[in-house]
Amino acid sequence: MKVKRPELSLLKKIFLVDLIKGLLLTFSYQRPSKNYTEQYPKVRPKVSERYRGAPRLNNDPETGETLCIACNLCALACPEHCIEVGWERDAASKKVLTDYTFDISRCMFCGLCEDACPTPCLELTQDFELSLYGRKDMKWDRQKLEEGNQPVVYTK
Ligand code: SF4
Ligand code: SF4
Repeated sequence: MKVKRPELSLLKKIFLVDLIKGLLLTFSYQRPSKNYTEQYPKVRPKVSERYRGAPRLNNDPETGETLCIACNLCALACPEHCIEVGWERDAASKKVLTDYTFDISRCMFCGLCEDACPTPCLELTQDFELSLYGRKDMKWDRQKLEEGNQPVVYTK
C-alpha cells in the first residue's frame, strides 16, 4: 500500500509541479516550424475540391443558352425551400426557364439541389466569400446566378 507523505504534496504545490508537467506536455505537441500564416485576402486559400460554396447557374459554353430545363427538381430536393424556379411553356409545349431565385441566407450548402439537377446547370462552386451587409441581397436572381458571384478582390 502506498503511504501518502504530506510534505511531498506540499512541496509539489509550492513548486507548481503539476502545472509544469502540464505545460511540458502541451509544448511537446507544438511544432513552430510547421506553423504558417495564410496571407488572406492577398493570397486566396485553396479550398477542398469537394467544397460547396456560392451557387451558379451554368450556361452552355457554345450557345450561351441556359442548361436549365426548368424541371424544378432542385427546388423539390431542397429541405430549406431556398429555391424558386419560374417557367412557362413555349409553342412546342416545352418548359422554358423564366426566372430562378436562390436564397443563400437559409442555404446550408448540403448539395442536395446540385445532386438532384439532371443537367450540369446548377453548381455549388468553390467560392466561399459570401459575406454581405444585408439579408435583402442574399436572394440571388437568375442574372446574378448566371454571372456568378463577384467577390471584392482586396489588394491592400
Ligand atoms: S445546398 Fe441544400 S439547403 Fe442549399 S439550396 Fe441546395 S438543397 Fe437547399
Ligand atoms: S434541377 Fe437543374 S435543370 Fe432542373 S430546374 Fe433545377 S437547375 Fe434547372
